[in-house]
Amino acid sequence: MKITIIYDNEVYKKGLKSDWGFSSLIEVENTPRILFDTGTNGSILLSNMKKLDIDPNSIDEVFISHSHLDHTGGLSDFLKINRDVKIYVPISFPKPSMAKEVISVSAPIQIHENIFSTGELKGIEQSMVVKTEKGLVVIAGCSHPGVGNILKAASQFGKVYALIGGLHGFREFDLLKDLDLVCATHCTQFKSEIKRLYPQKYIEGGAGKVIQI
Ligand SMILES: [Zn+2]
Ligand SMILES: [Zn+2]
Repeated sequence: MKITIIYDNEVYKKGLKSDWGFSSLIEVENTPRILFDTGTNGSILLSNMKKLDIDPNSIDEVFISHSHLDHTGGLSDFLKINRDVKIYVPISFPKPSMAKEVISVSAPIQIHENIFSTGELKGIEQSMVVKTEKGLVVIAGCSHPGVGNILKAASQFGKVYALIGGLHGFREFDLLKDLDLVCATHCTQFKSEIKRLYPQKYIEGGAGKVIQI
């Protein structure tokens, strides 16, 4: 699988714009192309997509982690270009009216053969779980339900290999010791501590970063 970070608080690839928010493209073999979250600002989202050669019309589905503007702000501009998408939103999020199809997620579900949602946790946020040969890859927006709860919910689908996304004020660093790869990005406050504790498994995020697993 391949994850391309499109929108982030920091820039990885020169020429892209950084802004507070998160969005990434999730590509899994023989599976629809999924946009995970949409950043804060539609024009930054679309311009970063253009610079990364990602055609908005090539996106089949959108997965919204939670309602906060730094994850949903770009959605309406994206839908103006491509409304022919299926959108997965957590149940607490009001259904966007413009899209072709909207699925409200409450309990854990299988979205595709190798893709799952943890379901909405703590009444706020869902995370995506991708099954790979190496183990599960968990993609989180802000981790508001707590990294421990997210990893626990993901574990019902197998053994977690990687955690990618915003970890907010997370500092129970022990929870990461059994993972093989951590890309703490977006709102993560303690990036440097995580990097210092786990230099072998730590991957730098930022807009334009591509992670292949
Ligand atoms: Zn948030
Ligand atoms: Zn956020």
